[in-house]
This record gives sequence, C-alpha cells and structure tokens, in this order.
Amino acid sequence: MTYTSPYFNKNTTCPLCHHAYNTMRLRSRFVTFFGIDTDFMPLYQDIHLSPLLYYVHVCPNCGFSYSEEFSAYFPPKVKEKLLAHMKPGEESTFGDIRTIEIAFESYKRAIHCALIKKEQNIIIGGLYLRMAWLYRLLQNEEEEKYCLSHALKYYVNTYQLDHFSQLKMNEVRLLYLIGECYRRLDNHKDAILYYRKVIETKTQSQERKIIEMAREGWYLARQEYKAAKSSIVVD
Ligand SMILES: [Zn+2]
Repeated sequence: MTYTSPYFNKNTTCPLCHHAYNTMRLRSRFVTFFGIDTDFMPLYQDIHLSPLLYYVHVCPNCGFSYSEEFSAYFPPKVKEKLLAHMKPGEESTFGDIRTIEIAFESYKRAIHCALIKKEQNIIIGGLYLRMAWLYRLLQNEEEEKYCLSHALKYYVNTYQLDHFSQLKMNEVRLLYLIGECYRRLDNHKDAILYYRKVIETKTQSQERKIIEMAREGWYLARQEYKAAKSSIVVD
C-alpha cells in the first residue's frame, strides 16, 4: 500500500514579480469538516489539517503575500512600493508544512500587502476574520476580539462605501456578518440593529438560512444585552 501525504505542492506564479514557485496545499480527503460556526468559520477536526493555515500565498522571491481573492490589478506605482516594502530571501518557511505561528505571520504579511495595494475592504476584513478564527481555535479571546474588531471595521466600510455589484459577498451575508462581529464584541445594541436589517430584508429564497441565523443571533444578542444590563445593576 502506498502512503499518500495529506500535503501536495501546487505550482503558482507571483502576481507581483512573476516568479513561478510551489506552495503547499492540503488534499481535500484529509480535511475533515464537521460544521460551521455562526460567523461562517468552518470547523475542522484537526487544526493542523486546516485549510485556514494555507489560505495565504507568500512568494519566496519577493515576499508578496496574498490570497486568491486579491484582485489582479495593481494601481499605478503600487508594484514599486510593494517591492520596496518586501523582504526577499526570508520566505522559505511559508512553502513548507505550516504551524499556526507561521500561518499568523502569513496573514499579517497579507494584510500589510493588502493595505499597500489598497485591496477592497471586504478582502482585508476577510483576512482579519480568518485570523480571529485561528485565535478562537487557540482560545485566545483577547487576540480574537482584536482581529474581530478590525474585521468589523472593514466590513462596515464595505457596507457604507462599496458597490455590491463588485463584491463576492452579497448584502444579506455582509449585514449578518456585521451583526455577528458586533455581538461577539459585546456591542449588543448594534448587533441587534444589523440582525434586524437582515430579518427585514425581503430577499431571494437562497438566503432563508441566513435570515434564520439572523433571527437566532438577534434573540441571543437581546438575551446577552439584558444579562449585561442586569449585571450592571447588581454591581
Ligand atoms: Zn514575487
């Protein structure tokens, strides 16, 4: 019987310097998915066999760090700016099997690149949200909330400033996710407000599940809000 590794190398090309390189990937049959958290975090049985660790590509030549959701477009002079900020020659560890620490580093670099590149708010929010998920797995609530608060900021910017026709996420999902972030950050009033926006949306049938999740979140946020208020009175 031949042994098949859970990992394989995928050949890819850096969109910044056009260097061809291999990046590690997980074979899907080794990834055991068993559910989804209320903020869409996929739950995997083994943290070391989680695709979240390999979401970010890091070019070993120029250091550019990005996800497949980054746009292929670089605004004028941004390529030069990125190349000046990167540290080539220090990236070899990202192409191997990743620890959570290495994964965190890849996300931090991707956020840094995304900010220089002026990626869409929703892309930057998504990087912070995934970092929050990794901190949740480590039960590091402080860092999780720090990342959630940044994800929230970029999602609210998306809602207020961006055109939905250009986004991969629809408005109902985004409103729900904003509500979830607020609730997880203990801002129950704003959570209730955004869940209500979802519930009041007259929408297409495929989002019924999200509306149901928003109803549950709305109920939970109200309970938590009441509990927080009564604990203040007791104190
Ligand atoms: Zn590169």
